[in-house]
Amino acid sequence: MRLWRGTGKQPPKPDLPAVLANLIDRRLTDARCAGKAPLFDSLIDDEPEPQRRARLQWAASECSTCPVLAACDQVASELPDGEKTGIWAGRNYERPPGRPKTEPAA
Ligand code: SF4
Repeated sequence: MRLWRGTGKQPPKPDLPAVLANLIDRRLTDARCAGKAPLFDSLIDDEPEPQRRARLQWAASECSTCPVLAACDQVASELPDGEKTGIWAGRNYERPPGRPKTEPAA
């Protein structure tokens, strides 16, 4: 699951519980992916590979006209590698299909 990117024009309400408020990055307000975040994820369950590739290509192209592209690139650079998958700022940080999110404990 990717970090929440905002819902579009409305800034988060100030009375959100702190745990939720911490998931919101105001730098990404007005993002083109707002409300469409799953389409920018690396994997969608049971999605055939050709469709997945086409979807990620489309998502990356959406980024090229996003008003917060530079901020998104900055946010992505601040995320640990394990929390950054899918398309961010037009870059594909995909996790190869079948690869677990974290390494199993020894
Ligand atoms: S640059 Fe792309 S991934 Fe980043 S906020 Fe905009 S649409 Fe979303």
